[in-house]
Amino acid sequence: MSHRVLLAALFHETHTFLTSSTPLSAFQQRSGEQLFETRGDGSPLAGVLKVADEADWSVIPIIDLRATPGGIVEDSVFDHFWSTFEMVGGPLLSRGEIDGIYLVLHGAMVTQSLPDVEGELISRIRQLSGAESIPICGILDLHGNISQQTIEQTQGLIAYRNNPHTDACETAERAARLLDRILTTGKQPVSVWGQPPVMWPPTGTGTADDPMRTLELMSREIENAHADIAAVNVMGGFAFADTPDTGVSFAAVTFGDAEFARAEVQRLVEWSIEHQADGNKIDRPLTECLSEIRDDVEAGRTPVIVVEPADNIGGGAPGDTTELLRYLLAEQFTNSVCVINDPESVSQLSDRAIGDRVGLSIGARNSSAFCQPVAAECELVSRSDGRFDLEDINSHLASMCGVHINMGPCAVVKSGHVSILLTSKKTPPFDLGQLRSQGIIPEHCSVIGVKAAVAHRRAYDPITGTTYTVGTAGPCSSDVTTFPWMKIRKPIYPLS
Ligand SMILES: [Zn+2]
Repeated sequence: MSHRVLLAALFHETHTFLTSSTPLSAFQQRSGEQLFETRGDGSPLAGVLKVADEADWSVIPIIDLRATPGGIVEDSVFDHFWSTFEMVGGPLLSRGEIDGIYLVLHGAMVTQSLPDVEGELISRIRQLSGAESIPICGILDLHGNISQQTIEQTQGLIAYRNNPHTDACETAERAARLLDRILTTGKQPVSVWGQPPVMWPPTGTGTADDPMRTLELMSREIENAHADIAAVNVMGGFAFADTPDTGVSFAAVTFGDAEFARAEVQRLVEWSIEHQADGNKIDRPLTECLSEIRDDVEAGRTPVIVVEPADNIGGGAPGDTTELLRYLLAEQFTNSVCVINDPESVSQLSDRAIGDRVGLSIGARNSSAFCQPVAAECELVSRSDGRFDLEDINSHLASMCGVHINMGPCAVVKSGHVSILLTSKKTPPFDLGQLRSQGIIPEHCSVIGVKAAVAHRRAYDPITGTTYTVGTAGPCSSDVTTFPWMKIRKPIYPLS
């Protein structure tokens, strides 16, 4: 008889310092059989379903809720998720009709009442009748702020190893194979957890550079040296969340001696403390980089990619800060481009003819605490419905959204030599299809403004002439000491 597995997904990275909250309407929702629509779309759900089909599981799909990173999630979102999970899964579990549970989680979701949504979810599942010892496996984003209760109440939550997250689908497959191994052999592994008093901004969590690079290598060595250890997680954490669990953490899944695995995790904890300063990557102010950018453009070292972590859409920022746009408009480099999320400007252009000249007040709709809108005389170049498919199915964006992306109605305008792509839904700049679908050829640009921290690199590194990661004013500043911390555990590096 095939194994019966409950499948559910709850995916949000919550920036708790933003003033706006994230309501249920901001979430893309799938229920029941709709989860099967993700087959083949490069998302983590697609990865699970691939293994489920190969292993002939009988999957009971419950719910998939996911949203772009943003402010604190309203309680109604988790209430809705949990009541659906309990309604569908509860009776099946209590009748003994379920063999395993697979969860697709981000790991950094915070609601108005719950600082550790994932830990609460797993505790509630464990309290359901018949679920006390059901194996729970699944995946975590590398940016989860992961608590002991999340890890140690589950059998195998496996984290992405790459940032940019090019391995989301593959990680989901690996975790599904682990669950299949448990179901087939009847042997349950144990998960152990460890946490240093360390937090790094997103700019410090790229896996091409230290400290993450070495931590990932050490983890692979542990897995390779000890056949009993099925997985070792390195969690970079998500720093823009004021919770007790925020920051770096580690976990190991072992079929062998739990204390041995715990000691290996402790080695990672100690290494991360010794090298904590390497992960505190703070950006040079844009103003300090201006003359170098100018030199690069003049020398043809283009496109110059100017990365703004402070307005990192993938970290919850609104994607509408204007400091860089203001600079590009002043400089007027030929073929420079900036993307600004500005639904009001798009709607203002909705009944204008292509070629019309319109005075716009651009940006700062949701970042007025940090910057002002930019007034510019613009020519309308094009309009679209803002839909595109990823050029790269292993794009970081696929880990969040699958391959079909919707930026909402869009317009491209030009102010002098600067092209501005105006979107209606903030869209992380992790795939070149975003620009190309709107008639902008990234390879031909002189300067491209990118509102990201690290996750854009898979898309942009291959075409980059030179790159600058610059400090601007915005809600995702890499200097985490500037936030008003209240709930985080202390002491924690780099807070004093
Ligand atoms: Zn992430």
